[in-house]
Amino acid sequence: MSEEIYIHIPYCQSRCSYCVFHSTTSNSIPDSFITEMILDIKGYREKLSNIDIDIGDISSIFMGGGSPSLLSSDQLKRIIDAISSYIYPVDSMSQEITIELNPSDITEPLLIYYKTIGINRISIGGQSLRDEVLKWMNRRHTSRELLSSISLCKKHFDNISVDFIYGYEGQGIDGWKEELKEILSLDIPHLSLYELSIEQKSSPFIRSKKLSTVGSEDIFSATIETMSSSTYDRYEVSNFAKGGLHCRHNEAIWRGGVYHNFGASSCGRLRDRSGSWLESKVEENSNNRIIKKLSDKDRLLEFLITGFRLSSGINRDLLGGKSLSNFFSIEFLQKHKSYFFENVSHIGLTPSGLDMLDYILRNLVLSD
Ligand code: SF4
Repeated sequence: MSEEIYIHIPYCQSRCSYCVFHSTTSNSIPDSFITEMILDIKGYREKLSNIDIDIGDISSIFMGGGSPSLLSSDQLKRIIDAISSYIYPVDSMSQEITIELNPSDITEPLLIYYKTIGINRISIGGQSLRDEVLKWMNRRHTSRELLSSISLCKKHFDNISVDFIYGYEGQGIDGWKEELKEILSLDIPHLSLYELSIEQKSSPFIRSKKLSTVGSEDIFSATIETMSSSTYDRYEVSNFAKGGLHCRHNEAIWRGGVYHNFGASSCGRLRDRSGSWLESKVEENSNNRIIKKLSDKDRLLEFLITGFRLSSGINRDLLGGKSLSNFFSIEFLQKHKSYFFENVSHIGLTPSGLDMLDYILRNLVLSD
């Protein structure tokens, strides 16, 4: 099975009002951060071989954050060169190489440069086509800048994704449907449509912006309904692609594959030669890497939580051939037959099951 690389750049020029991630606000990325990351990359292979782990063939590299578009050309090149020299050759012909971009950082020379160093997929943090929304989100760009950055990216790249957020107070179903229609008319190959989420770290301001639960369900259904009558394939709960341009990197991770992580506050999943699973974390502020074994139960839970997100479901070989009845009570399965599918090779959720993902996951039963 192929493996993936995730590179985390935890710096942003400003802080979005809905942000729950660890990121430092700065106009540029300190060289010391790059130097420390490269030191980690240089020693990584040896560190893994000491704990009986090989690095397999790499099929994708994803630079996320934070805002990787704050990296200078030189910093980006140093990272790519270090990955090529010490981890695995970077090759845009055979790998998917993604960078996340903030629309306000996108310029034509930058895109041309990205192409020359092998980047072949662009992921834009668009979030909204409405200026008043971008304003309370504290995004740096306007809708006009977003539209022109999408056109510029389309001029130079075929594989482009844009993120949008919906489900906030005052948006209304009709307002979102109208916006979604405009989004669809942009003919973007890949869309990630996320409902505004409230997490423990969310500020009172964002809590006040979230739609009530009933409104939230309606707007989610309206999103799925609109997307199912479009030419996009819903291959994951919130991700839609045209022409098969799924995000190979995320798909591999959702399928439960191995991924290597670099950059402060990043996480990875590793597997040793005996088949045990480990989690790898780089701490928030020190670039110190901690690798520890995952219990079979934790790993199984992770497989199920991520695998059920995919419309293709979970390969039963990864679950030791187990079936749905190993993870849900018979009563639950009988009551919600329409939510599930099961065949010789896979178990998973039907489109109506994907719509009920959180409810279904709350009903998982795992024995010790
Ligand atoms: S770009 Fe992402 S990481 Fe940075 S502040 Fe906004 S939400 Fe947080």
